Amino acid sequence: MLSNVDPEIATLIQAEAARQARKLRMIASENDVSAAVLEATGSVLTNKYSEGYPGKRYYEGQQIIDQVEQLAIDRAKALFGVDHANVQPLSGAPANLAVYLAFLQPGDTVMGMSLPMGGHLTHGWNVSATGKWFNAVQYEVRKDTGVVDMDEVRSLAMAERPKVIFCGGTAIPRTIDFPAFASIAQEIDAILVADIAHIAGLVAGGAHPSPAGHAPVITTTTHKTLRGPRGAMILCDAEHARAIDRAVFPGLQGGPHDHTTAAIAVALHEASQPEFREYAHTIVANARALADALLERGFDLVSGGTDNHLILVDLTSKQIAGKPAAQALDRAGIELNYNAVPFDPRKPFDPSGIRLGTAGITTRGLKPSQMPLLADWIDRAIASADNEPALERIAAEVEELLGTL
Ligand SMILES: *Cc1c(COP(=O)(O)O)cnc(C)c1O
Repeated sequence: MLSNVDPEIATLIQAEAARQARKLRMIASENDVSAAVLEATGSVLTNKYSEGYPGKRYYEGQQIIDQVEQLAIDRAKALFGVDHANVQPLSGAPANLAVYLAFLQPGDTVMGMSLPMGGHLTHGWNVSATGKWFNAVQYEVRKDTGVVDMDEVRSLAMAERPKVIFCGGTAIPRTIDFPAFASIAQEIDAILVADIAHIAGLVAGGAHPSPAGHAPVITTTTHKTLRGPRGAMILCDAEHARAIDRAVFPGLQGGPHDHTTAAIAVALHEASQPEFREYAHTIVANARALADALLERGFDLVSGGTDNHLILVDLTSKQIAGKPAAQALDRAGIELNYNAVPFDPRKPFDPSGIRLGTAGITTRGLKPSQMPLLADWIDRAIASADNEPALERIAAEVEELLGTL
């Protein structure tokens, strides 16, 4: 037992479990995995080394591991409707690095959405290896709409001729137009990569259009809306299968994390059930209801609302910055992150906005009818950011509601 061997860590894990239980967990990239996913993650599969792929390994004793990985692969292919799946990337960033290794040479041009506009670091942002080692050109959102302008993306693509185009990101509250990106990529003979890390669960559950059939390469984490263990996958057309597999191993990684692979297989099984479709649609219904309730309370939402699980709030009109707001909300039992908003005049470590997501609270069982109450709490906490007793009162109300679920 952990509590006998290492009581210090055991106590900390218990404390974290209790902390998660009493908070409204609204970090848009997080979720609560099932007991089944946790059990697979904590299994003896962690003891195994299995460099290679099913049927082509460099170590013995793969009789069971091969079956585990093959199940994960087959389930990923079936769920997302793709030719090929690599389930070994250790996380989202390494999955994207594998894509660079598969298709680009250092110095080649790659195009992605810029980080401050909602893109991901690994789509060519300057502090990332992808921005340092490649010639990254970055598209933005329109200042007046807060949404990507596909005509601007097309002009930039025509002018810069990237070999790879990334679509998707980490703070995009709106539907991604995969067919429009695909037609731009086709015009310049670029490879379109759809990074669906945030929305994979929505795609799997039919609550966001799928990039399958539009993007020949799809990368995703498995731990966000997909509600699996921390990990990632690369899904692709048959013609790219070999390049992708060789880039992941031996190009970038050593042995895969077989315990994670098993847990990914479990999460994919869960995501293929009818209840998961309902879950994905409820995530979006919750986000829409929360966005409406925030708008009614005078909050300024980037792009004016949401189509998915994510809401980006510009707090400038509330006369508070993102960081003090996020810290006050945390003390009020509502956990989220401060976030840059497009064209943010403030610094990245002290930006103007906050980002919220509804994947975790939907797993917890919250429904659209409860979103006005959440918006009230958020409003009250932000208005009383310096008022400790007021924040404590909200935290008590949050805990009481969560106790009833
Ligand atoms: C979260 C995320 C990643 C990176 O995932 P990690 O597992 O944190 O490395 C990559 N791309 C996008 C769009 C993401 O949202």
